Amino acid sequence: MSPKRLVIVGGVAGGMSCAARARRLSEDAEIIVLEQGREVSFANCGLPYYVGGEIADPSSLLLHTPQSLNKIFNIDVHTGTSVVGIDFESKTLKVESADGEEDELTYDSLVLSPGGKPLPILDEKALHSPRVHTLRTVEDALALRELALSGQSAVVIGGGFIGIEAAEAFVLRGLDTHVIELSDHILPPLEREMAQLVNDHLESRGLHIHTQTSAEHVEDDGTQIHVKLSDGSTLVADVLVLSTGVTPNTEVFSKAGLEVNERGAVITDEHGRTNQPGVYAVGDAVLSTLSATGKQAVVALAGPANRAGRLIADHIFTPETARPLPALLSTAIVRAGSLTAGMTGANRKQLDADGIEYTTIHLHPNQHAVYFPGASPVHLMVHFDRQTGRILGAQGVGEHGVDKRIDVIATAMHANMPINELIDIDFAYAPPYGAAKDPINMVGMVGANVLDGQLEVIESAEIIDLPEDWVVLDVRSRGEFASGHLPGAINIPHTELRKRAEELREAAAGRKLAVMCAAGVRSWIGYRIVKAQGYEAKMLSGGIQTLRAWLGKSADQVLVTESCG
Ligand code: FAD
Repeated sequence: MSPKRLVIVGGVAGGMSCAARARRLSEDAEIIVLEQGREVSFANCGLPYYVGGEIADPSSLLLHTPQSLNKIFNIDVHTGTSVVGIDFESKTLKVESADGEEDELTYDSLVLSPGGKPLPILDEKALHSPRVHTLRTVEDALALRELALSGQSAVVIGGGFIGIEAAEAFVLRGLDTHVIELSDHILPPLEREMAQLVNDHLESRGLHIHTQTSAEHVEDDGTQIHVKLSDGSTLVADVLVLSTGVTPNTEVFSKAGLEVNERGAVITDEHGRTNQPGVYAVGDAVLSTLSATGKQAVVALAGPANRAGRLIADHIFTPETARPLPALLSTAIVRAGSLTAGMTGANRKQLDADGIEYTTIHLHPNQHAVYFPGASPVHLMVHFDRQTGRILGAQGVGEHGVDKRIDVIATAMHANMPINELIDIDFAYAPPYGAAKDPINMVGMVGANVLDGQLEVIESAEIIDLPEDWVVLDVRSRGEFASGHLPGAINIPHTELRKRAEELREAAAGRKLAVMCAAGVRSWIGYRIVKAQGYEAKMLSGGIQTLRAWLGKSADQVLVTESCG
């Protein structure tokens, strides 16, 4: 039976999409949304672009107001209203208005979409400085925009997706900006060799990036912020953004008996139902199933929250036809300067943690025909199961065409398409848009080569630490080799491998060959030649382009350069 009164806690992504769908399914239900903030249904994903000035009018961030929601959907929205307690047995919420007035409200069905709250990393005093903000609400964005307009310098603590978007906003405003990141690379869900491409690009645009560094102490001297870093240095800035992650905003509910994990994330079933009768939960506050690994994790992304909100409304009002919540790929994308970085599925850290075996390939094709003006590389990396061809994760970085390729791989993963079938997808092609062999077709071809046993790849981490019975065969030109190569490598260009076979045999002296080139195209040709000559061999995935990115700042110490003579 449909509920008479549906109450929703949290009026943004998950909550509001649930409310709007609920009204489409039932004209009779009373639908009440409780939101502790000043706004509902605002575009939190758009906030960094308002700070940076690309979105000029803050009102365009407000997709709805309580009045418009009432008029269009007959939804009763209470902003400035926090849920401060709950009795699951009597189905009663304790609510508090912004001016401290308390009230009680009963429900038949309850949907919790309270999102996350920032992880406390600094002492309270620093958080109360008018120059220190998180970037989560419209109020935060308004304040940060003002500070960016009057300031000269900024510090962002946390180099994740939102931290990088905030830093980019400050760079656009002309502020001297520093990003502090604890991990060894920015955008931690990206693999290090992919993140390094973004890092180098952002540094070339003037952003200062401090990885493997933490902010130890923050103090406001009344005019500026002083940030003491773990390396002993101090940064002084006019504005500071805290972007160190969030934790589920569920304390009020878990205290009353809602089942959560050790980090406070709500445990739900396949329809979003919690352990409490009539109570559902959605969004950044819940655990979702990851499709690549089957493990449970919080996926803090707007798309999954919006879609799950809709599915939960379906289950409340039309349970007989409601589809279950799907497992998630966690597909995400971020703009960083003129680059785009996208990812879907699992990364090495997740796969290793779950003991899942995988092979990784890297490609650097152009986004469209190389001869058409404006061609630029899409750096792609794909993890897959070499027995079944199942795609486990993919990442892309480039100036153009990354979104299209990551979305196609996400679609293929969603449909359980093995990597070699990517060869067969019939993409729209004309030179300004793609290539006769689209980068995704090429991922399929390299994947098929591995699946069919025609290609064995070696990763950057392995080639710099080869066992003694292996040697690197670098098939680039003499000049390229001289500009930076691995110590002890043999250099024979791929076009000369047949006629210099004897020389190679002498130089290899019975060792196996790790064949490499610039990006993986020439080494594939060379690899097949030396395989035909009887060598045991592997090919460096992604060539020196990937190796350099993987090595990052240590590339100059590892690679040998020579004068060409
Ligand atoms: P939210 O949208 O956070 O809404 C939760 C609401 O619940 C809040 O407004 C809160 O005030 C309210 N609330 C909490 N507790 C209570 C209570 N006790 N009583 C009453 N109200 C309460 N995702 C992407 O996929 N792509 C992006 O580009 C992207 N960019 C982002 C940029 C920024 C700056 C931010 C902050 C997030 C971004 N996200 C992005 C993440 C995305 O916005 C979230 O995943 C999504 O909003 C989660 O939806 P939710 O409903 O779970 O929580």
